[in-house]
Amino acid sequence: MTDSKLIEGNREFVKDISTELDAKMTILTVKGQSPKTLFIGCCDSRVAPNIITNTHIGDLFISRTIGNFVSPYDPDASYPASASAVEYAVSALNVETIVVCGHTHCGAIAGLFGLDTLDDREFSNTKKWLSLGTKAKDEVLKLITKDTSEREKLEMTEKLSAVYQLDNLLTYPAVKKRVEEGTLTLNAWHYNIDTGIVSRYDSKTKEFVI
Ligand SMILES: [Zn+2]
Repeated sequence: MTDSKLIEGNREFVKDISTELDAKMTILTVKGQSPKTLFIGCCDSRVAPNIITNTHIGDLFISRTIGNFVSPYDPDASYPASASAVEYAVSALNVETIVVCGHTHCGAIAGLFGLDTLDDREFSNTKKWLSLGTKAKDEVLKLITKDTSEREKLEMTEKLSAVYQLDNLLTYPAVKKRVEEGTLTLNAWHYNIDTGIVSRYDSKTKEFVI
């Protein structure tokens, strides 16, 4: 498939812009964006942030990374794409909420359990990036029993990893400061791509709840 289908889709989109959306787009152009949420989701094509949250243009500042991982704060990183999205959202846009959204059937999480099968040269960056999920994987390996199914193991890792990414977010001085001030909240979600339902992590019960 070339990009022609996508361009066709864009023309359909332009044709169908409603008066209400047109007005909203004009306001966003004139006043600039002011999203309240930074949504950090997986690159997976099935996890479309605006669609699954029924939100629109201008509502979410979105960073999509493999496995919805967040790199810890590192002022010396060479090309810190996900880190700059966090910094811009928190310090320039002043978002009030950050959501890290894991999901079922995540290829990145499954990949954590099969790193040896990935070619060292073709996946050199991917392997390095996936190391951000190692802590969750190791923790889950300690928790599972012989009765734990493969699906359960992966889902436990998807959820635990999303929670651990919140710890990575707290390594950013600006994030830590805003959280301590009470002007920023951090949330871990798990999106079930079979049902479309999101569950949220409750830090008191340490469970994901719908
Ligand atoms: Zn994924």
